[in-house]
Amino acid sequence: MEAGQLMIEPEIKERFDRFIRDKGLRRTVQRDVIVEAAFSTEDHFTAEQLWEMSRRIDPSTSRATLYRTLGLLVESGLLSEIDLGRDQKYYDPNFVDHPHHNHLICVDCGKVIEFEDDHIETLFDCITRRLGFRPTKKSMRIEACCDQLRKDGICENLLEMRLGKRGPARKATAPSSN
Ligand SMILES: [Zn+2]
Ligand SMILES: [Zn+2]
Repeated sequence: MEAGQLMIEPEIKERFDRFIRDKGLRRTVQRDVIVEAAFSTEDHFTAEQLWEMSRRIDPSTSRATLYRTLGLLVESGLLSEIDLGRDQKYYDPNFVDHPHHNHLICVDCGKVIEFEDDHIETLFDCITRRLGFRPTKKSMRIEACCDQLRKDGICENLLEMRLGKRGPARKATAPSSN
């Protein structure tokens, strides 16, 4: 991602601005940069990776502002904290456009596939209601082994991960069942 090529939906900016205003906070350039960075990607990222992305737009972005803004983004519901079964927390910017997506994660190479499925949705609802609850947030994580490493003995994703070029949470998309 290069600075200057950023595109984020105005709706996201508006929702965040409204949230900030309602909290009695001021809009700041630093915060805007971080929001821009977070929603200019469809990849899942760690706080550290978001800091790097933000610093590519504005090198003066401070870590303190990053953590504060990250907290606000999660609180506002725009960004979701997700558990990819790793020792770090990941953040997912894709729930705004795909509020019902789930994750399939390769335990070998870290590849993450997002998928949506109507049957799982129905199942979540049925189970939750049967137990007398009302579903609020539902997401499923499947850990599995992708075929590539087994078939080819080598996998681009694994290499990238070992070389540290990229975090393990790179996202690919799967066709929806809808
Ligand atoms: Zn996701
Ligand atoms: Zn794999």
